[in-house]
Amino acid sequence: MVDEKTWRQILDRDPAARIVYGVATTGIFCRPSCSSRRPLKTNLRIFATVEDARLAGFRPCLRCKPDAPGRSLDDKLTSMLRLIEDNPGRRIPLVELGRGAGMSAFRAQKNFKAAFGVSPLAYQNALRARQLRVGLRKGGTVTDSIYDAGFNASSQVYKGTNLGMTPARFAAGGRGELICHCEQKTAFGWLIAGATARGLCWLALADSKLDAVQSLQSEFPAAVLKRDAALGGSIRAAIAAIETGKQIDPPLDLRGTAFQLRVWSALQKIPRGNTLTYGQLARKMGLPDSARAVARACATNRVALFVPCHRIVGANGSPTGYRWGVERKIQILQAERG
Ligand SMILES: [Zn+2]
Repeated sequence: MVDEKTWRQILDRDPAARIVYGVATTGIFCRPSCSSRRPLKTNLRIFATVEDARLAGFRPCLRCKPDAPGRSLDDKLTSMLRLIEDNPGRRIPLVELGRGAGMSAFRAQKNFKAAFGVSPLAYQNALRARQLRVGLRKGGTVTDSIYDAGFNASSQVYKGTNLGMTPARFAAGGRGELICHCEQKTAFGWLIAGATARGLCWLALADSKLDAVQSLQSEFPAAVLKRDAALGGSIRAAIAAIETGKQIDPPLDLRGTAFQLRVWSALQKIPRGNTLTYGQLARKMGLPDSARAVARACATNRVALFVPCHRIVGANGSPTGYRWGVERKIQILQAERG
């Protein structure tokens, strides 16, 4: 019998599926990602390994070559990134991208987007935009530009994004960054805003002004901090967004793995006054099995209120943990429901 999850993987041609399937009527076995026609469910035989399929008398498909020394999806995605990053001056067509990774243009697009949260084209555009700016001040490497463009896309870092996630590191504690900051007392306690030249990178709640500044220091221990009263506007905008729904979003400088960026972006789509559970958010993102990874990404959010991780509640509607204190979360949610 074929369980529902495996059948879904086969229908979806899920490249992450670890099994191979044989088709009783043809005697051929395939990887779920094979581009061949989907078999009838009743003809399917599922095997954990290529060896098992062979032992059961099935022959490998010539199209998907399930017996070929396999490249994992991670490898394929990495090879796509390489191709793009090695050719910053040329637009790589999807067909070429797919060919290099052994998949169709359609698959290449879909897998890339699922892993990095942006389409290959958007990624190339971002790289190029950055390239232009970097080109003006010399010495920027492609890797720097990728990082600067907001994608943590070196293969090393990428490995952590495939639902396993590594804890985010903001460029080694913000080394060499100038972060301006400002603190204000608000209805929800002390609020501190920290911003790089690109936008807000830290918005946190604290009990005292001192705690607020210390929170910034410990998040970015290697950054140069400078007080800037102009950031008070961002704090007021954050409070107004919660209390009145008036949305003035200052530019944000969110940095993290591709997976974290996806989660934070999904959080920003939850309307004021609404809440979701981690599971619901994961399903909205098309990652129903990733509630835990989603929860971890929410817990590492650096920009409170504008990236509304407070709109995530427990399965029974109860307020669950909040980086800046559950009581504050309750207060904020109440203010939103007004
Ligand atoms: Zn096949």
